[in-house]
Amino acid sequence: MRFDYFEPTSLDEACGLLREGAGARKPLAGGTDIVIQLRRRAAQCQGLVNLKRIPGLADWSCARDGGLHIGACTPMRDLETAAAVAGGYPSLFEAIRVVGSLQLRNIASVGGNLCNASPSADTAPPLMVLGATASFRNDDGGQESVPVEDFFAGPGASVLGNAGLLLSVDVPEPAPHTGDAFERFTPRSAMDIAIASAAARVTLDPDRDHIEAVRIALGAVAPTPIRALRAEDLVREKEPTPEVLQQAGAAAMEQCNPIDDIRGTAAYRKELVRILVVRVLRRAVERARGDGGTETP
Ligand SMILES: Cc1cc2nc3c(=O)[nH]c(=O)nc-3n(C[C@H](O)[C@H](O)[C@H](O)COP(=O)(O)OP(=O)(O)OC[C@H]3O[C@@H](n4cnc5c(N)ncnc54)[C@H](O)[C@@H]3O)c2cc1C
Repeated sequence: MRFDYFEPTSLDEACGLLREGAGARKPLAGGTDIVIQLRRRAAQCQGLVNLKRIPGLADWSCARDGGLHIGACTPMRDLETAAAVAGGYPSLFEAIRVVGSLQLRNIASVGGNLCNASPSADTAPPLMVLGATASFRNDDGGQESVPVEDFFAGPGASVLGNAGLLLSVDVPEPAPHTGDAFERFTPRSAMDIAIASAAARVTLDPDRDHIEAVRIALGAVAPTPIRALRAEDLVREKEPTPEVLQQAGAAAMEQCNPIDDIRGTAAYRKELVRILVVRVLRRAVERARGDGGTETP
């Protein structure tokens, strides 16, 4: 069977090639998901459109008052080794740092992690709590932006449709007195994917004893990464006491909808959510108070 391979040098050319393919061609960034899926016949396509020769798509920047700009093809390792990411966006740093292995992170991109649309994609919960926006070319070649929490349409599906192309992910600068954190649980300590993950971002009032704003997101416990909205309602405008954080954990556990599979039962994943939500909230509050510390790359 014929299999096409393209190396476009502009966005217009890449989008044209994807549109011509009408769903039969797929973008290729690092290839750590798509190449394996094609080999296992878990994905089907008749051609790959390599994005790596398109100028600017692997660029990232972090500016005071400008937030974090991540080109879709930016390798995770570039962000993992940046002090500005570890210090300013610790939940994203904590998520990237646990993806696969160092060799994998040298080629795996943040954009590929989102576009693969796995419910367990590690960068999704932090990007959701950080209020990130995904900018993309749609099926018709027009440019659109959506909050990352609206990017996913189901397991393996996103708003990109058949021929869309993710361009960048943009994370706004955090407000003062804000902290964020990510944790995941994997059954094995060696390379594995999450069976549950959680991220939280908390903004405290100027006296730093009440939660003014909060976002909580969960991974691997529903068909897509989700916001834990009921848990957020329970902690907003409250003092972050251990009891309040426990209530949020219980609410998140009720809201998620995990599956039973070979890697963990639904009941086990729910219990993990309860524990992970309490932990990430506690660490986010500590960071918002300025006494949680962040790790260095
Ligand atoms: C051994 C191993 C361990 C792993 N561990 C983890 C882990 O711990 N956590 C985790 O989250 N993931 C893990 N993964 C999955 C994978 O490495 C990540 O999802 C990675 O970020 C994918 O990025 P990529 O650049 O390789 O994407 P690719 O494989 O190139 O692409 C992934 C999908 O996205 C599409 N795509 C890529 N870029 C774009 C774009 N700009 N616009 C539109 N569509 C696009 C592709 O067509 C494909 O469908 C692991 C994979 C392996 C092989």
